[in-house]
Amino acid sequence: MSGSQQSTAEDQSGRRSTGRAGIATSIFTEMTELARRTGAVNLGQGVPDLDSPPALLREVAEAVLAGHNQYPPAHGLPELRQAVAAHQQRRYGLDYDPDGEVLVTTGATEALAAALLALTGPGDEILTLDPAYDAYPAGARLSGATLVTVPLVPDGDGFALDTDALRAAVTPRTRVLVLNSPHNPTGKVLRRDELAAVAALCRDHGLTVVTDEVYEHLVYDGGSHLPLAALPGMRDRTVTISSAGKTFNVTGWKVGWICAPAPLLAAITSVKQFLTYASGTPYQRALAHMLGAVEPWARELRGLLRGNRTLLGEGLAAAGLRPYRAESGYFMQADIRPWGYRDGFTFCRELPGLAGVVAIPTSAFRQGADPAPWLVRFSFCRRTEELRRAVTKLAAAAP
Ligand SMILES: *Cc1c(COP(=O)(O)O)cnc(C)c1O
Repeated sequence: MSGSQQSTAEDQSGRRSTGRAGIATSIFTEMTELARRTGAVNLGQGVPDLDSPPALLREVAEAVLAGHNQYPPAHGLPELRQAVAAHQQRRYGLDYDPDGEVLVTTGATEALAAALLALTGPGDEILTLDPAYDAYPAGARLSGATLVTVPLVPDGDGFALDTDALRAAVTPRTRVLVLNSPHNPTGKVLRRDELAAVAALCRDHGLTVVTDEVYEHLVYDGGSHLPLAALPGMRDRTVTISSAGKTFNVTGWKVGWICAPAPLLAAITSVKQFLTYASGTPYQRALAHMLGAVEPWARELRGLLRGNRTLLGEGLAAAGLRPYRAESGYFMQADIRPWGYRDGFTFCRELPGLAGVVAIPTSAFRQGADPAPWLVRFSFCRRTEELRRAVTKLAAAAP
């Protein structure tokens, strides 16, 4: 671990590092506190305030009452591993053996930590896209590896991946590429040609890939999710991670899973056993049944989120904040320069007072130099009424 990563000073981005892994008390904590204090509408956090499938909730309650409350097997309940394997086969044509190639984890978060701890160590480099979900830099710090990032750059009303830059960032020390598509926070979904270029460079350089696909069911506008593992030559070098949290609005349950070839999965399992061993027996039981019927549910959820996205996008535009395209997930970025700001941190600290709304500077997710410090992230995974209140307030506060 390098000295700079153990810094206890608050850096200019407002992140305060504490503790062994340099895990930050972050802008998220600050903004949540600001929302609480000012009563502002909180569109900062990515916690969904949306309903879950009632049958799923009932099944958990019944499983608890029926006594399914002890440790599940370390790999996860067999019926959930079978349901995950069937899901990958049905949706993506990917074959995984539920015994030895599927591991149930305590959310995608534990899956990511276990994978990075198992596959990387001091001296290794982990390559990922920037901005990045905060579990990647944290996972790199825990394993002692160095995180190397390649920026997603604003391009029209979306974001572009420079696959040549990604290739150029590979060094002899690069062990793992962490690929998040659908991407948080930008909402970008990598196109087939972009995935093909990524796959080619992984094959050429012998890289293992850890994919974060937790938004796999939340791709809008007729787009579809394509796992990197489904591309030629990729299955045997790819660790595919997903989770129930975002798909069923049950982020508090923390049930995730990994699909990977047996040797990679064995290495990850040996770490995972000493992180949590296993968790969530009644949730695993209920999800095993629900995952088989995810499509009609996900269609309904996408419809709702699409409506929210339209409401937020039109509201931001009406307030003079230029919205970006959100192809997937929970978040929309907006350009704050029309309001006379150039820095997202300043804007977000002032916005609760100005408009009674909380957002998060997209820069909070940037690890490297930020090509767009004037972007701010708004969530649309909230109740429609709440979004309506937020856009009304923004319109009233527009300069
Ligand atoms: C929410 C989220 C996670 C965490 O998933 P859990 O299953 O709640 O641990 C991981 N990656 C991304 C990109 C996320 O947005």
